[in-house]
Amino acid sequence: MSEGPASVEVLGCRLDCVDIEEATERILAFARSNRSAQIVTLGTEMVVAAQHDARFRAALAASALNVCDTVGVLAAARRRGARISARVTGIELLERLCAAAADEALPIYLLGAAPGVAIEAARLLAERYPGLRVAGAADGYFPAERATAVAEEIARSGARLLFVGLGSPRQELWLADHLAQSGAGAGIGVGGSFDALVGRVPRAPERWRRLNLEWLYRLLREPHRWRRQLALPHFVALALFEELRAFLGGRQGR
Ligand code: UDP
Repeated sequence: MSEGPASVEVLGCRLDCVDIEEATERILAFARSNRSAQIVTLGTEMVVAAQHDARFRAALAASALNVCDTVGVLAAARRRGARISARVTGIELLERLCAAAADEALPIYLLGAAPGVAIEAARLLAERYPGLRVAGAADGYFPAERATAVAEEIARSGARLLFVGLGSPRQELWLADHLAQSGAGAGIGVGGSFDALVGRVPRAPERWRRLNLEWLYRLLREPHRWRRQLALPHFVALALFEELRAFLGGRQGR
C-alpha cells in the first residue's frame, strides 16, 4: 500500500494496514522462514474481548501481523487514518495461501473444527489446488493437557503454514503458547473457515458480502449468535468514546 500509516490502534489493538495481496505475501515470507510468526484476523468481537482480557491483549500485541477481518474494525481503522481497501477474511487468506503453497510446495496443516471436518477441508483444498502438500489435519476438540502434544505432532509433520480454527480467543491463545513448538513458519487463526469450506456453515451469498451484510446473514441463519453480535454495538460505542476522548485531548493540548 502506497500511502497511509503502516498500522493504526483501534481500542488499544494494533491493526496492520494491509490488503489481502500484501497480507498473503507477508505470510508466505513468514512460512518460508523459521520465525514462527502469528497472524491474527482481527474482528470486532476480539477487540471488545481484549478490553478485559490481558492475556488475549498480550497475544494480539505480540502477533506478527494483525489483519482486518470485519466491517466494524475496517470503519474504525479508516477513521483513524488507515488506507485499507477491503476486509481480509480468514477464508480468503486460506484459499490464497493454499494456492501459493501449492506452487511453492510449502506443506500446510489444518487444526480445528469438529472431528472429520479439517480432514475433509484438506481433501477439498488438495483437489482445488493441485500439488498442495497437506502435512496433516486434526480436529480442535482436544483437552488442554494435550495442547503440547498437538504442537509436537505438527512439528513432526514438517508443516510450514499452520491454519488454526478453534474459534477466538482459543486459537490466538493456543498459537501464542504453541506456535514455536509446532515449528511452522506462520500460524494463522481462521475461526470457522474449515466449516465454511466443507459447507457445514454456508457463507453469505456474494451480494450480501458486497453490501457488508455477512454478519446479518449469519445472524438470520444462526440466531443463537445474537448474543455474540452484541459485540458490534458495544464496539461502536467504545470506538466513538475513544475518538471523543482523543478529540477533547487534542483541544486541551492546543
Ligand atoms: N472449535 C474447536 N474447538 C473448540 C471450540 C470450537 O475446534 O474447542 C471450532 C468450531 O468447531 C468451529 C470454530 O472453532 O469450527 C469456531 O467457529 P466460529 O464460527 O465460532 O468462529 P469465528 O469464525 O466466529 O471466530
